[in-house]
Amino acid sequence: MPELPEVETVARDLQRWVAGATITRATVTWDRTIRHPQPAERFAAEIAGALIHRVGRRAKTVLIHLADGRIMTVALRMTGALIVAPAGTPPDPYARVVFDLADGRELRYRDVRKFGRIGLWPGGGMRSVGAGRGARSRRVAESAGRYRIGEVFSGHGPEPLARSFSAARLAERLSRRSAKLKTLLLDQSFIAGVGNIYADEALWRARLHPLRRADTLTPDEVRRLHRAVRQVLRQGIHNRGSSFSDYVGADGLPGDNAERLMVYRRTEQPCYRCGRPIRRIVVGQRSTHFCPHCQPELSQPVES
Ligand SMILES: [Zn+2]
Repeated sequence: MPELPEVETVARDLQRWVAGATITRATVTWDRTIRHPQPAERFAAEIAGALIHRVGRRAKTVLIHLADGRIMTVALRMTGALIVAPAGTPPDPYARVVFDLADGRELRYRDVRKFGRIGLWPGGGMRSVGAGRGARSRRVAESAGRYRIGEVFSGHGPEPLARSFSAARLAERLSRRSAKLKTLLLDQSFIAGVGNIYADEALWRARLHPLRRADTLTPDEVRRLHRAVRQVLRQGIHNRGSSFSDYVGADGLPGDNAERLMVYRRTEQPCYRCGRPIRRIVVGQRSTHFCPHCQPELSQPVES
């Protein structure tokens, strides 16, 4: 499943390749891919003619900002991929939505297992409405019957790579939680974008046991975790993401990060730090990989 580095890679690719492009037509071949607006024909009609202004990311969702202020969200979920196909590329039987671009290319939403969802939303939460004549205008909420982009992400925690995500902020959030570290790192309301791969990698790098209670971390351990989360995510982006099955960048190619992982899916192989075997346990139904020697259950100071 694509996590923050994979989704960020796709967003950066699309920014480079389709910002400034116009969508002339959308063809939806699997209606349930469209979350909003419904039905799919309405989505297709509303997106036709849209100019792509820029492409970004929030949590594990690609944000395609349109020039008129609307935003298209693409949640890749398990096997979704956004691929830019040059003119003349043979059709893809797993493409659930195809966006024709004015220059002849196609932006294809490919999804083997069909869990991903695409939405088209009005931008912002408020709009100015003139209140009669004169200079005065007032701010009113948009009609309540229509979703707004803010509601799509209302349950999400902070972005771990944002400048505002400081070690102090992480410490404050951890201190209020008694959950296990592994469980908490996967909780999208606690921190956005981290999934199973990067949670295991961050805990190994920070030398923290996956079952440690969040509110028992020392200030030094919090600083290690903060640094480790950001390092593993940045490394993942640098290597264009981790591919184990379906994930590809917008160029259709897998990323290079899987072979550079330290613990994930390395059960019984020697730890890169101490040489002892990596163990696998299940935490909250998720397989968890760690080094029992480097990541002891009890708090230990680490010289770094
Ligand atoms: Zn070790």
